[in-house]
Amino acid sequence: MAKRDYYDILEVPRNASQDEIKKAYRKAALKYHPDRNPNNKESEEMFKEAAEAYEVLSDETKRRRYDQFGHEGLRPGMDFHGFTDINDIFSSFSDIFGPAFGGSIFEEVFTTGRGRSRARTFTGVPGSDLKIRLKLTLEEIAAGIEKKIKVKKWITCDSCNGTGARAGTSKTACPACNGTGEIRHVSRSVFGQFVNITTCSTCNGEGRIIKDRCSTCLAEGRVQGESTIKVNIPAGVSEGNYIPLRGQGNAGQRGGPPGNLIVMIEEEPHKVFMRSGDDIILDLLVSYTDAALGTEMEIPTLNGRVRLKVDPGTQSGKILRIRDRGIPHLNGDGSGDQLVRVNVWVPTRLSKEDKELLKQIAKLENLKPKEGDTSAHSEKSFFEKMKDIFS
Ligand SMILES: [Zn+2]
Ligand SMILES: [Zn+2]
Repeated sequence: MAKRDYYDILEVPRNASQDEIKKAYRKAALKYHPDRNPNNKESEEMFKEAAEAYEVLSDETKRRRYDQFGHEGLRPGMDFHGFTDINDIFSSFSDIFGPAFGGSIFEEVFTTGRGRSRARTFTGVPGSDLKIRLKLTLEEIAAGIEKKIKVKKWITCDSCNGTGARAGTSKTACPACNGTGEIRHVSRSVFGQFVNITTCSTCNGEGRIIKDRCSTCLAEGRVQGESTIKVNIPAGVSEGNYIPLRGQGNAGQRGGPPGNLIVMIEEEPHKVFMRSGDDIILDLLVSYTDAALGTEMEIPTLNGRVRLKVDPGTQSGKILRIRDRGIPHLNGDGSGDQLVRVNVWVPTRLSKEDKELLKQIAKLENLKPKEGDTSAHSEKSFFEKMKDIFS
């Protein structure tokens, strides 16, 4: 099924403000919420659709990319993941339904209380996100590549499966709070009885404590380790792009959910090519005679060598374009070009014989530039071209 337009889904105009988008999403989320439409596949789909549209349109960077490239601009694996699991959507709810909407909306509207039951089930301490830099060559970027990376991180303790309790034992009710996770202080005064409720400090509100600690992780539920992670790099990435790998960050404490691993793309400088957007630039040296008489030469590209024709009378500074030999566009639609900048090379070490011959040639009036002659450098459009290339 073709993806629907995000603006259509939220029923907002293309120039809608962030406020309008937020309002439209709230409306859609409340209307299609699964708790209000039990066992209704259609509204569940609408609910997911709206969440995805909101994820994109509420983020200015993603929105710009979507405006420019449509759905193609947001391929999975890049900094957009879409929602595959409905619980992902709930975790993003706090942003929008949180302070602005009043947290109580969950209890009032969503009577089965997904939010509430999640809050009550203590699930350890979440693991933190990890960031790693990944250096790629231009060749790897042009082809796309699967990389295996070794990451030092907290991993779940095998001995206790992350619970922190010694194998064969389990957590027991906290004696300080009788398993409620709360401590009630009752004080009496002439006005009556006051109850002050605080989080139990013995169990940190979990209601359960570990009696027999796992000796491997000392009740942390995780240990320092290393893991090898495969990451697929699509062709066309550039410096500053990042790829989030959900759940591949540090393991949580005592069964808490893992963090994410963020792979930051770095581009290694290339020996002969320069990148400009998705075009690549090659500086080519040609001799004065080749430039004057024309020649054909073999030049490198990002994927093998090709033959390039240099026309007779090619001026220094001329830019030759080889179509589609640049970097593939990230959205999968075609590639940039390879630009070859011709530089006429002037020899610096001359033998006596060389000098004699050049002096003979120098006498030929026809080989000298005359007033009004142009070179590629002095073409009016030259600076415009360079601006295009290097901007
Ligand atoms: Zn352990
Ligand atoms: Zn307790």
